Amino acid sequence: MTSDASAADGRSRLARRVKLKDKHIVTRMMDLANGLPDVIKLGRGDPDLDTPAHIVEAGQAALASGATHYTHPHGLPELRQAIAANIEAHGGARYAPEDIVVTPGGQQAMFIIALGLLDPGDELLIPCPGYNPYLQAAELTEATLVNIRTTRETNFTLTADQVREHITPRSKVLILINPGNPTGTVIPPDEVARICEVAKEHDLIVVSDEIYARITYDGHLAQPVAALPGMKERTITLSGLSKAYAMTGWRVGYFAGPPDLIPALAEIHHAFAISTSAVGQHAALAALTGPQECVGEMRDTYDERRKALCEGLTAMGIPFAEPQGAFYVYARVAEIGVGATEFCERLLADGRVMIFPGKIYGDYTDDYARMSLTQTVPRIHEALARMAEVVATIRGERPAA
Ligand code: PLP
Repeated sequence: MTSDASAADGRSRLARRVKLKDKHIVTRMMDLANGLPDVIKLGRGDPDLDTPAHIVEAGQAALASGATHYTHPHGLPELRQAIAANIEAHGGARYAPEDIVVTPGGQQAMFIIALGLLDPGDELLIPCPGYNPYLQAAELTEATLVNIRTTRETNFTLTADQVREHITPRSKVLILINPGNPTGTVIPPDEVARICEVAKEHDLIVVSDEIYARITYDGHLAQPVAALPGMKERTITLSGLSKAYAMTGWRVGYFAGPPDLIPALAEIHHAFAISTSAVGQHAALAALTGPQECVGEMRDTYDERRKALCEGLTAMGIPFAEPQGAFYVYARVAEIGVGATEFCERLLADGRVMIFPGKIYGDYTDDYARMSLTQTVPRIHEALARMAEVVATIRGERPAA
């Protein structure tokens, strides 16, 4: 093959495998936002709250004392020990440090797991809407994506019956994201148990994304999957420090799983990253072993914001999935009379509020938009006031400015 032909082949391979279409919405919105003053950003899932001071100080101290090198490829042993203790303390399975691999964010873990587990044609079952990078990871492996459409009827949570309906002889991996992103909903624990029964019956590997598990409201509980009977040997638990400890920029995540899978997955991680950043790992160690009040305090902050946003949406007649966890509200903005993508673009252009359409998360409708609870209550009130103006214009109650 000539080099031109191979470059063209490379491009078509990319275009085929990575669906850029919906990504363009984000890029377009980011570009638009950059040219506008005072945009209220309720888009990305990046907490506005700072990493708690004791964690930052631990990172600084680690740097000062020479944590500037590669670490053990699987992660600092003391950090893996702390992760194991933390998982177990929150009702999860008992893992040995050797069963855990620390990665540069949970995000990279998704790709490691997909590359390690999926052959072309294998089927990956994923709730839809769901967290988009899982779809991209599966596409890179040429696995077949099986989107399981969740609905308002179950508050967008997956059910065992839905999983069962989508099983074929090629079904291999089931992704559970609980609490959900973009929906902010929690699968009831007894439903998680029923889903796990289906996974056992059909010999599925479950990737259980529990990154938002520390952030739930109104007494909802996200059941750790690997702790259920017969599940530890077929579950890869994926999580990280980004959300519970407001540590997105430190890039520390992890996955934990059974001894027959972890060593091979750890090899892939090594090839990708050699190791996760040493300073990030020392900060993560301080996060997991230090005072834990900060986690509850941040959760309470999101809870107040959640209430403020939900009240405002209700006043505007915009319905939403009941937000039970994570820091998102998934709202049916199509109720206003335009598609969600158009609404998000108009809201940004005319109201300087950034929210993301559900299509980015593989939603099968253009009805919903995700709003992140990553602004203070006064800023959320301001965002709601701006939104009300845009809504009134769209509804024809007010002439366009
Ligand atoms: N899993 C879910 C469901 C997420 O929403 C995110 C980030 O938004 C991640 C994993 C990855 O987070 P990180 O790479 O920061 O650990």
